[in-house]
Amino acid sequence: MSTEVRYDVVVLGGGLLGCFAARHLTSYRLRCALVEAREDVCTGISRSNSAIVYTGCDNKPGTLKARLCVQANRSFEQLCAQLSVSFVRRGSLLVSYGPRGDQVVRRKYDQGQENGVEGLSILTGAQAAALEPGLAPGITSALLASGTGVTDPWALCYAAYENAQANGCQVYLNAPVTALRREGKDWVIAAGTHTLRARAVLNCCGLEAHRIQELCAPPTVRVIPDRADYLVLDQPTGPYVHHVIFQEPEQKGKGLTLIPTTDGKLLLGPSEQPGGAAPHRAVTPEGLDFLRRTAARVVPGLDLSQVIRAFGAVRPNPFSVRQEGEAWVPEDKGIHSFTISTPCPGLWSLIGIKTPGLTCADALGAMLAGEAAAYVGKGRPNPDFDPCRPLPPRPRDLDSAARRALVQAHPAYGRVICRCEDVTEGEILDAIRRGAVTLDGVKRRVGPGLGRCQGSWCADQVLDLLARTLGVSPEEVTQDGADSLLLGGEGT
Ligand SMILES: Cc1cc2nc3c(=O)[nH]c(=O)nc-3n(C[C@H](O)[C@H](O)[C@H](O)COP(=O)(O)OP(=O)(O)OC[C@H]3O[C@@H](n4cnc5c(N)ncnc54)[C@H](O)[C@@H]3O)c2cc1C
Repeated sequence: MSTEVRYDVVVLGGGLLGCFAARHLTSYRLRCALVEAREDVCTGISRSNSAIVYTGCDNKPGTLKARLCVQANRSFEQLCAQLSVSFVRRGSLLVSYGPRGDQVVRRKYDQGQENGVEGLSILTGAQAAALEPGLAPGITSALLASGTGVTDPWALCYAAYENAQANGCQVYLNAPVTALRREGKDWVIAAGTHTLRARAVLNCCGLEAHRIQELCAPPTVRVIPDRADYLVLDQPTGPYVHHVIFQEPEQKGKGLTLIPTTDGKLLLGPSEQPGGAAPHRAVTPEGLDFLRRTAARVVPGLDLSQVIRAFGAVRPNPFSVRQEGEAWVPEDKGIHSFTISTPCPGLWSLIGIKTPGLTCADALGAMLAGEAAAYVGKGRPNPDFDPCRPLPPRPRDLDSAARRALVQAHPAYGRVICRCEDVTEGEILDAIRRGAVTLDGVKRRVGPGLGRCQGSWCADQVLDLLARTLGVSPEEVTQDGADSLLLGGEGT
């Protein structure tokens, strides 16, 4: 066991919420650390979601969720400019095909107005069809929200993480928290081989956040996961839809969302499938079938042979719990607001933060960091804090003169490894330098394997670069951490 290291505030969990909380902590004059169980950040809920920056018209007026979402949406351009992350305000259409959907359109419009959302209007079916001629005929009304955006959730998470590190946040990877206890005014945290001591702790452990809290306090809220499926389509002949489309079904149940992503693909989903005891990300045949059937109905011209990938996600549904004898029993209805539990002084637990957690990650991080900094008596700003993270070199975004100059200076940027996405060796080496240790870690950072061939042509080269740069044998390189060895080695 290593010696104890002291911090003012420690963040547990390196998803979007933890990385943004860490980023904001570094804007104060204090010592902070981020602790992550896995070999990399952005491997939990934050890695599979819809990538939508919501406006706030879906949230109940007067709630923290509504307030933060509206505020976050307005400043998203600025945030993405600071962190060099892509963001496109595509606008969204909530489309209805009957009286039930029309009521939802009206209710969300009224709700949005009350929340102060700008750029909302109710369209007739004909107006909506003119904006999106690919949608099935028969639209009865639609809610246009011009402020809805799409971003790159992976890039956002890594950018916040790198920005936090650049501003002085200490990071502990491969450090699962197994004990959290109060000693006087301090918290003592056992995380892998490390022992950390801090005055305040921000528990951002996603699906595990309730278990972490229960290491030191009785249960208040528990996460009961369910599963979601997505399909990704290539759009070789141009976009099928221009806006983010929310299809409101006439029958009770889940509609379909179509998301034109920042890199020109089309994301369909999420489905809603039961979770089971152990949350896992495998796709479900029922969910994929639902997506295909609904998509064919909502966008009749959609060419489903262009699907290049299916992936699964896990929703962290929060439920209040009550004690019955020895057992803790969840209430029947889930919690809809953001749950920030503060069971003991100096501990904040974000439990079951669902949509719009991506939209609000920066705003939530700012709020929590501010409260924790005040609690530890170090609310003075850090004069050296730099909110900007420079964009790593991306040859495909450069004009030919700039690309030539980059390649002359660094020849690795001239060797294309992923032909579908035009990703070079230089970018892959840069991703590894920035912390990627798995094939998926490289993919999430710089994109090899995201294109039409899904890595069939480049995975072995990326694996080789990982092995050589990390100084390990190719047999030790994994797709996505333990138990995902690629070359037939034995799983751990
Ligand atoms: C299907 C789906 C679609 C969504 N779509 C959108 C959207 O379009 N727009 C939007 O605004 N929001 C969306 N969201 C919400 C958003 O994705 C989440 O709110 C956000 O990603 C939650 O991030 P997190 O940091 O809480 O969790 P995570 O990303 O899961 O991070 C938690 C981290 O804690 C680590 N951890 C766990 N246990 C321990 C331990 N013992 N010790 C140390 N570390 C530990 C994990 O390894 C993980 O890295 C969506 C969510 C889902 C599920």
